[in-house]
Amino acid sequence: MKKFLVLSAMLMFCCATLLFAKDWRSGIDWKEPAVVTPGEKCGNPPSDATILFDGKDLSAWENQKWKIENGEMVIPPKGGTNRTKEKFGSFQLHIEFATPAEVNPKATGQQRGNSGVYLGKYELQILDSYENTTYFDGQCGSIYKQRPPQVNVCRKPGEWQSYDILFTRPDLKIEDGKVKEVVRPAYITVLQNGVMILNHHEIEGTGFYDQPPRYEPHPPMMPIELQDHGNPVRFRNIWIRPIPDDNTKPPRVREPYYHQ
Ligand code: MG
Repeated sequence: MKKFLVLSAMLMFCCATLLFAKDWRSGIDWKEPAVVTPGEKCGNPPSDATILFDGKDLSAWENQKWKIENGEMVIPPKGGTNRTKEKFGSFQLHIEFATPAEVNPKATGQQRGNSGVYLGKYELQILDSYENTTYFDGQCGSIYKQRPPQVNVCRKPGEWQSYDILFTRPDLKIEDGKVKEVVRPAYITVLQNGVMILNHHEIEGTGFYDQPPRYEPHPPMMPIELQDHGNPVRFRNIWIRPIPDDNTKPPRVREPYYHQ
């Protein structure tokens, strides 16, 4: 009986709290978020995306030597790197890739399915890392020579994989052609095949094969670049959504208040 009375009192207290709770408002007049229609299936571009490759043409890309086969963009022999004509600062990027299905058993480590997505100067590695070990900060999903992915979620060679990338550009103070100060480093978050592999990772600068990473001067807006490392890696369904730099709050137009 005592237990019943205690439970009843607690229930009444909760109901009264909800009934008399007031609706707190910040006093900031936020702009209404734009309506964006999501893609029909996961990975499809939303309505406000810039399409970089949809299987039809290479019009968004500088290097026209790359081939289109069955709606896929393929690196031909000695095709060279390719970069977007448009330049970007911070962005959300979706890209799908497949390393070659035919695996040369003599090719190991960095020789197997090597390419890369350059976010301006910063390489997110593409490699066949399915049962193919290399140095960990050079495997698929790494920021090259800086940070391995948190997990290896690679599919088999020849199978399609995806990167969903959130990239925040660095803020560099440049004087006399040199980086005087890194006001804010670049940050990157990556999902590979829907699985988080890098979470708000701080990029240390451009990665080099033979030198430690460092920030080099570059403009705020840079193209997206796809690396030709001598392997016929394929790409499809590439789209991007620029992220506005200004993420500051609008001024508070009145003191916080309780909405009636
Ligand atoms: Mg590479």
